[in-house]
Amino acid sequence: MEWVPKTKLGRLVSEGKITTMHDALQSRLPLREPEIVDILLPDLEDVVLNVNMVQRMTDSGRRVKFSVVVAVGNGDGYVGLGTAKGQEVGPTIRKAIDVAKLNIIEIKRGCGSWECGCGKPHTLPFAVRGKSGSVEVYLKPAPRGINLAVGNIAKSILSLAGIQDAWGFARGHTKTPVNYAYAVFDALKETIRVRVPEEMARKLHIHLGPAGMPSAEVVYTEYEDLEEEAKKLYEPIETGEMGAGSAQPAGESVADSPEETAGGEGEKTGETEAKVQEKSEGGAGK
Ligand SMILES: [Zn+2]
Repeated sequence: MEWVPKTKLGRLVSEGKITTMHDALQSRLPLREPEIVDILLPDLEDVVLNVNMVQRMTDSGRRVKFSVVVAVGNGDGYVGLGTAKGQEVGPTIRKAIDVAKLNIIEIKRGCGSWECGCGKPHTLPFAVRGKSGSVEVYLKPAPRGINLAVGNIAKSILSLAGIQDAWGFARGHTKTPVNYAYAVFDALKETIRVRVPEEMARKLHIHLGPAGMPSAEVVYTEYEDLEEEAKKLYEPIETGEMGAGSAQPAGESVADSPEETAGGEGEKTGETEAKVQEKSEGGAGK
């Protein structure tokens, strides 16, 4: 390979010290070379979302410029969006693809919906909102088989990200493709920003990145809010016979062993539900 990396991340990838896109993004090192993405995500696809021709009259005559919006994705948790401007369509598209590669993000997906329960990361993990210019989008998880009930641009982006089912709503000038595309991308970024309690992650099969990768370490375990909530909701029952573990302050045991949380009755109830769900899935899957 002729590529000579110029950045630290580039060197780590070319030396084989970083071998997955997940590790590359988690390294927090700036991603400045599209070749990194080519190596780590060899099956990346691209879709030209929009080509806009801008004509301008100048003293020397008519000048034409193209503005291009491109999305890239591997259909399995990674998606990027890029724009470029130039005087020829072909090179401008290639430039936009490179920009999209450098903007690649790792999204969370999930089964996402109680009606579905299939356990595969085929939809959004939870409802998300995104905004760009005047365009606002609202995307919701959908059960398997709904497909992408969204506009064409959103359909391309979600599909490249590996989301097969979703409901979408939009307002503002959705006919402005650039803003619409960036609003959808912004909504997908929301899946990264929102931290999910481990309990919820397990129930809704929320998963960061590619489907085959174990995600326990990266689906954040922020129990505190849930604990507070659970205390409020389940206080009367906590004094009952089944109060095993409730003498212990809920927050502390959680940090060490999220798998074996005995945080109080709120947790207990959730756990039982999760088990029931797992059983019914196992039956349906076989
Ligand atoms: Zn499902």
